[in-house]
Amino acid sequence: MNRLLLAISMVLAARTASAQAKPTKLAPTVARFVAVDDSVVALTHVRVVDGTGRPAADDQTIVIRDGRIAAVGRAASVSVPTTARVLDLAGHTVIPGLVGMHEHTYFASGTRLTQMPVSAPRLYLANGVTTIRTTGSFFPYVEINMKRAIDEGTLAGPRMHITGPYLNGDPSSPLSYERHLRSEAEARRVVDYWAAEGATWLKVMGTVSRAILAAVIDEAHQRGLRVTAHLCSVTFREAAALGIDNVEHGLITDSDYVPDKQADACPRDNMKKQIEVDVDGEAVKRSIRELVARHVAVTSTLSVYELFVASRAKLDPRALDALAPAVREEVEADHAALGTEKSEFDLSPVLFQKMMQYDRAFVRAGGLLVSGVDPWGNGSLPGYGDLRNFELFVEAGFTPEEAIRIMSANGATLLGESGWHGTIEAGKVADVAVINGDPVHKPADIYNMALVFRDGIGYDSKKLIESVKGQVGIR
Ligand SMILES: [Zn+2]
Repeated sequence: MNRLLLAISMVLAARTASAQAKPTKLAPTVARFVAVDDSVVALTHVRVVDGTGRPAADDQTIVIRDGRIAAVGRAASVSVPTTARVLDLAGHTVIPGLVGMHEHTYFASGTRLTQMPVSAPRLYLANGVTTIRTTGSFFPYVEINMKRAIDEGTLAGPRMHITGPYLNGDPSSPLSYERHLRSEAEARRVVDYWAAEGATWLKVMGTVSRAILAAVIDEAHQRGLRVTAHLCSVTFREAAALGIDNVEHGLITDSDYVPDKQADACPRDNMKKQIEVDVDGEAVKRSIRELVARHVAVTSTLSVYELFVASRAKLDPRALDALAPAVREEVEADHAALGTEKSEFDLSPVLFQKMMQYDRAFVRAGGLLVSGVDPWGNGSLPGYGDLRNFELFVEAGFTPEEAIRIMSANGATLLGESGWHGTIEAGKVADVAVINGDPVHKPADIYNMALVFRDGIGYDSKKLIESVKGQVGIR
């Protein structure tokens, strides 16, 4: 088969796979979290933030039929089928299921590296995240198995896109879990392998050379896969010119502004040096213009970085409750060390403000901004971190409606799936989250998840959260 035909057939296979994602029957291990599983459901008298960026609309009715949104509009004008199970949800807000574009299902800290096939997917779903992309992996086969189990209805969780292992240049340590690529031929072979294993994206790390990155991107695109990266040795502009699809973390990882940057080398303390960058300056403007022109999306992961800023970091009591007791002690000790010489990584509040400012500038320039948690061992957790991003986007100056679009529709667009999820519109798959309260006027209400629908099945958020109490960090 020639490469073009192969690429087309891979894309078709991927579409078919996602279309088949809804299982016919849920296993008892999943069904126990289901609160609503009627074929016709009406959510009446809700406020809707539809994910398109349009202003929130009050007193709406959403009709779900056979897993899809059949109608949405003013409660007075949408007719509710007589067969519908009607949920009167006055006082609630409905948003699209969130699309988390930098997600992990492991816990990693200085002392721990654990895969969490039970707690991570439940926490994403409980917090309204109905689709995730793993963005690099330490245990890619666990994630492939999780994806299969979720698709088959034996594991509760979000729809998953798999990236495979972290790909990088030379190893910094013999203990590395990454796949280190030393030649273009090797890069192409590894990409082909993960394409065959079911990855739809690949994630490249910060010591890769331009030549290797170019080979990864070229081979991935030929196989119908896309590429994102946590860059350092290669600048955003260089990666954009090579055809990369997405760059992670925004301003803090763009080494383009580091004085005397050597080609293909990651400058020492690259992240800290970004504090000198003038986000309103011509260099940033030029970089953003080039990213936008080449359709390179940027993933914002503000919530994980905030937890490295001593003056801002606050551990979320909900997240602490989810942690296993021994893990919680470690997270709290690391947190207490922030701002002291015992701390591994401190982030300046000034740089954090610049990161927010960069995200705004990128969107203002027409860029596709998506978001995720990058849950790490510092208290940033699956789901909770996604919701913290909402508050941070509002603080950064986005309207709540824009923030929701970044967190839902934009992710679906980047995944090439905006035709069937990411917004609340008739015809789309019924991935929606029902929130008790009004996050448009009170951003902290975003955490009050009541029901999360994926493929039209409504999961009880509280039951999911209750089931993983004290589990995060161990299973
Ligand atoms: Zn990550």
